[in-house]
Amino acid sequence: MATRKIVLHFPPSIVNKPLIYKLTKEYDIEFNILKASISPEEEGLLVLELNGETTKLNNAIKFLEKENIKIQSLDQDIIHNLEKCTHCGLCVPICPTFAFEKNPVTHEINFIKEKCIACEFCVKVCPYDALTVNFAV
Ligand code: SF4
Ligand code: SF4
Repeated sequence: MATRKIVLHFPPSIVNKPLIYKLTKEYDIEFNILKASISPEEEGLLVLELNGETTKLNNAIKFLEKENIKIQSLDQDIIHNLEKCTHCGLCVPICPTFAFEKNPVTHEINFIKEKCIACEFCVKVCPYDALTVNFAV
């Protein structure tokens, strides 16, 4: 199973077509809608998390592109808010990629963004809401 987060831009002519329904029915793809909106010009924007086998995912995305939907990959990263962080250290052991390091002198927790794979484990354990997910399109 693979996961992809994508942004779909629908032209006004197909806003009402049941295309997303077809992802499940015809391509065996599970999806979560992360964000949905329709602009004043009636252009639709949908942010989806897709889950499925890699080949099926690729076929589903090709299907959407053929339907004249513009697709962008969604980059997701983690923000470490130093104003909220108390350096309690709870995020350090939970991180699978060792993206947090404790400074041996100051005991402060440093976030090494380059190591982060945005799995969100740390976001769930931080008691001070100092770690948040940033969606950049
Ligand atoms: S769990 Fe939150 S408050 Fe604690 S060190 Fe990590 S980011 Fe800072
Ligand atoms: S999102 Fe995952 S990989 Fe990134 S810092 Fe948090 S626990 Fe580590």
